[in-house]
Amino acid sequence: MYPATVPTLVPPTQLTPVAAAAPHPLAVLGGDTRVRVADGRTLPYANLDVAATAPCAVAAADAVTRLLPTYASVHRGAGALSQQCTRAYEQARATVAGFVGCRPGDQVIFTRNSTDALNLMAHVVPAGTTVITFVGEHHANLLPWRRAVRLPLPRTPDEAVAAVERALRRPGPALVAVTATSNVTGEVWPVAEIARVAHQRGARVVVDAAQLAAHGPVDMAALGADYLVLSGHKLYAPFGAGVLAGRADWLDAAEPYLRGGGASRQVAADGAVRWADGPARHEAGTPNLVGVVALAAVCSAVTAGGWAHLARHERWLLERLDAGLSGIAGVHRLALFGPGHPRLGIAGFAVAGLDSAEVARRLADEHGIGVRDGLFCAHPLTRRLLADTPVTTATAVRASIGAGTTAEHVDRLVAGVADIAGRRRPASG
Ligand code: PMP
Repeated sequence: MYPATVPTLVPPTQLTPVAAAAPHPLAVLGGDTRVRVADGRTLPYANLDVAATAPCAVAAADAVTRLLPTYASVHRGAGALSQQCTRAYEQARATVAGFVGCRPGDQVIFTRNSTDALNLMAHVVPAGTTVITFVGEHHANLLPWRRAVRLPLPRTPDEAVAAVERALRRPGPALVAVTATSNVTGEVWPVAEIARVAHQRGARVVVDAAQLAAHGPVDMAALGADYLVLSGHKLYAPFGAGVLAGRADWLDAAEPYLRGGGASRQVAADGAVRWADGPARHEAGTPNLVGVVALAAVCSAVTAGGWAHLARHERWLLERLDAGLSGIAGVHRLALFGPGHPRLGIAGFAVAGLDSAEVARRLADEHGIGVRDGLFCAHPLTRRLLADTPVTTATAVRASIGAGTTAEHVDRLVAGVADIAGRRRPASG
């Protein structure tokens, strides 16, 4: 549901990095964006909805600006610019492969986003393979699997591993589809342990790293991921590229995901087609060069600078956010594995007696803060976590942080939630 009034965007005088002098490699655009709030003041916009879509990294914007003057067709032209753009596209593939830790022989297929990548994955799973997932997955890792075994939500990481192990006792090939980091709670799932039991039983694992990839290193070997998906727009590269990386055999054996030019090697007059092998098989049509170049630029920037600074920054802010929210009467946190479990920069919560849309609207209208409210495309999980709290509201609020988030943003959120919660009508929820 959209807020009744939308805060006015005050055009920034210029787009500048959030902290140009910051030592971490993920300086982002838009740090000087201001919004007009209900009482007429203008405030710096506090973007606490980074888990939905991250702001654009300076590295991504710079790479796109450099690319555009020589933008030309990819895989389709003999001209110098076409050749250069084809090289840039394939170089981006190699960079992304390095970023996610592809093994020799693995493929990187560029997609639109994680949802597209998981639909591609569902498309290439060989017939007769049992897909095993959890009912609490993000819809992108739930709905593409039409005939999956949907395990109930575990209460502990050990329970999650044991549930997968039990499910894998049935004979036959299997694929386990699991999210590395919840977009509702920020909790980190025991992916490597799940992969270990899966591999012991000869099964494969696809890891949804849509959230994880924006907060720390993703190493397919360390995770035990046979396949991994991520979204560029969550990784500070908002130009419409996503990734499916992983083992080539299923990808090469499957029918093309998209049928058309680029995926076809030879088409006879009678309609017989010889399809390409390798990434081209699933990338028919003119590819998104701008998107993949932007994504690769962020991968390179992060790889060169390391995650340590950003991880420290986020941990510090998350502790500040947790401490602030836990001090507000009537605020109830969403958590599957409990408060001590490792989390990345996401906090889901509900305010007793207040509809989450109302909380989000007032944070925007009165405090210049952007958060998300609803069920976060993970309806079964969010409903179940809400049921664990004393609140009776049907939906929740999510605050999420990343590069570009400041302590002032977090403090303003905590003060805003305290203000809103303090003015709620005491009789309800
Ligand atoms: N998985 C998770 C864990 C997510 O958070 C999201 C996005 N909210 C997705 C998958 C889907 O990503 P996209 O919308 O980029 O396809």
